[in-house]
Amino acid sequence: MTTATVARGGAWLIEDVTSESSFTPERMSDEHRLIAQTTEEFTSGEVEPAIERLEQKDWDLARALMRRAGELGLLGVNVAEAFGGVELDKVASLIVSERIARSASFGAAFGAQANLCILPILMFGTDDQKQRYLPKLVTGELIGAYALSESGSGSDALGARAKAVRQADGSYRLTGEKMWITNGGFADVIIVFAKVDGEHFTAFIVERAFGGVTSGKEEHKMGLHGSSTTPLILQDVPVPTGNLLGEVGRGHKVAFNVLNFGRLKLGAMCTGGCKAAIGASARYAKERRQFGQSIATFGAIRHKLGDMTARTYALEALMYRTAGLIDQHMAGSALPRHQALLASLEEFAIEASIAKVAGSEVLDYVLDENVQIHGGNGFVRDYPAERHYRDARVNRIFEGTNEINRLLIPGMLLKRAVKGELALIPAAKRLLDEVMSPSAPSLDAGSDEPLEAEAKAVTAFKKVALLGLGGAMQRFGAALQDEQEPLLWLADLAIETYAAESAVLRARAASGSVDAAEHRDAARTFVSDAALRIEMTARQLLAAIAEGDTLRTNLAALRRLLKVTPAETVTMRRRLSDATVERGAYLFG
Ligand SMILES: Cc1cc2nc3c(=O)[nH]c(=O)nc-3n(C[C@H](O)[C@H](O)[C@H](O)COP(=O)(O)OP(=O)(O)OC[C@H]3O[C@@H](n4cnc5c(N)ncnc54)[C@H](O)[C@@H]3O)c2cc1C
Repeated sequence: MTTATVARGGAWLIEDVTSESSFTPERMSDEHRLIAQTTEEFTSGEVEPAIERLEQKDWDLARALMRRAGELGLLGVNVAEAFGGVELDKVASLIVSERIARSASFGAAFGAQANLCILPILMFGTDDQKQRYLPKLVTGELIGAYALSESGSGSDALGARAKAVRQADGSYRLTGEKMWITNGGFADVIIVFAKVDGEHFTAFIVERAFGGVTSGKEEHKMGLHGSSTTPLILQDVPVPTGNLLGEVGRGHKVAFNVLNFGRLKLGAMCTGGCKAAIGASARYAKERRQFGQSIATFGAIRHKLGDMTARTYALEALMYRTAGLIDQHMAGSALPRHQALLASLEEFAIEASIAKVAGSEVLDYVLDENVQIHGGNGFVRDYPAERHYRDARVNRIFEGTNEINRLLIPGMLLKRAVKGELALIPAAKRLLDEVMSPSAPSLDAGSDEPLEAEAKAVTAFKKVALLGLGGAMQRFGAALQDEQEPLLWLADLAIETYAAESAVLRARAASGSVDAAEHRDAARTFVSDAALRIEMTARQLLAAIAEGDTLRTNLAALRRLLKVTPAETVTMRRRLSDATVERGAYLFG
């Protein structure tokens, strides 16, 4: 493998990455720490105490909280000062998302405003549109929403039926019905997607004040009761020419680029949820006594807390690594700011999908264990564990379902490979020759060097992913794009590999710190478990893409590549758990 020079999306799969070149949460600047503190104080001091009232659908309060978020500069982290923002880097943007998500309902409202309404105007708006809308959205004076989905077109967003009819004076009339719109009950400015002349998918900035926009009834949801979700009915809404966003027929560019950033931020929100739940679990486990002792002393509970910590550690590592990559890419770009942002988000769209899937699934796992650690108290409303559990479920559904995001991951990798932007095909061919040769070196991760074994294991994971990718391409050729089951397994290999590498890079970067041993325990536990998951996934994949002698040869290659000795994770998990219980909070932040 070669070492990365310029950061490229997906390149980590075929290149070695150094811990010096990767951003980790431990490398936050003073400015990052300040925005973290501001957000944390806002969430714990103002949002969390308001949750009951938000759950009763007090949208005046939601508006007031959005205004406060605006006053504190939290809505404007991506926006230039010229438009009322405090433009910080993407790491800062994730820091805010992560901390806002302590209240998932307000997090959803905040996300619809800051990500789904402000960002499209920032990235695709004209100067006039930015001047007209951004300052008031950034202060929270106006509430924003994003209306893409319809009852018949969710995942298949481009199948929208909403229509925009061009008028003689160049303006448009919009008619249609949008579904499940966050902030739908009270939004003032809505990014609406509709087809011009029933054909050309296009984005518009629509004000409720234009007339013809009505909100349907609030949905009765499983969770997020403190966030407004309604249909939006558009009846002949007059939209001036100046409110066309981007170009006619280019609405997909707006929709998908916004989602790229939204997915990464959603991953960050999930990380915040994991960290808060680990703290709650640890504090409860310490206090709760059964059989004459604290439940935190039982191996079963220590295993859970240790595992929740290790998985969250890797998730947090991959999240901030990705934000760092985007910041690096933007810094190296000669394009104007908003174009550089667009290009960088497109470049790291694979990693954004990984962040979304990994974030939402680790969160569901952590919140399920949080309920379990709380026992009966986890199932009743006296404790927030049950609310968190319900609130989180939708993360696997919106911003592109996890199935759609999983399909996108290998899909984008393959597209880049075919275009020659990513040297996956030659790397896969080299690998196949290498593992078939009798003198092929086998990777044994049983070394005693701290994290050396894990770094080798990550190299092995990359090769396994390449083996799968190469084999699947050989078997199906261009038809691979229609073979969803192998694609989903390929996505899982990529997700596990990126997470494992991010954890190792982070632990290595922390090697001289006072808590280096805890970093090591978290990274080693994660990598050891990832190796087992990767082996299972790879075996299923290989069986799906070959049979007979070819399958036997591929399985032999897999055994050679993935000769990873499982680590003794019981002790490491116990140490992580005990330290978490003692601290009463997630260990690493
Ligand atoms: C609380 C909440 C808030 C929301 N907020 C907004 C918002 O603010 N703005 C907005 O525009 N939308 C919003 N949505 C809508 C959300 O984005 C959609 O629900 C989501 O995109 C999924 O679409 P769908 O519900 O039509 O499911 P479907 O697309 O019908 O999917 C159903 C199942 O089929 C699978 N599936 C679909 N297509 C494929 C395929 N090609 N291959 C494999 N599997 C497939 C899916 O993964 C899923 O498991 C929100 C939804 C909720 C619940």
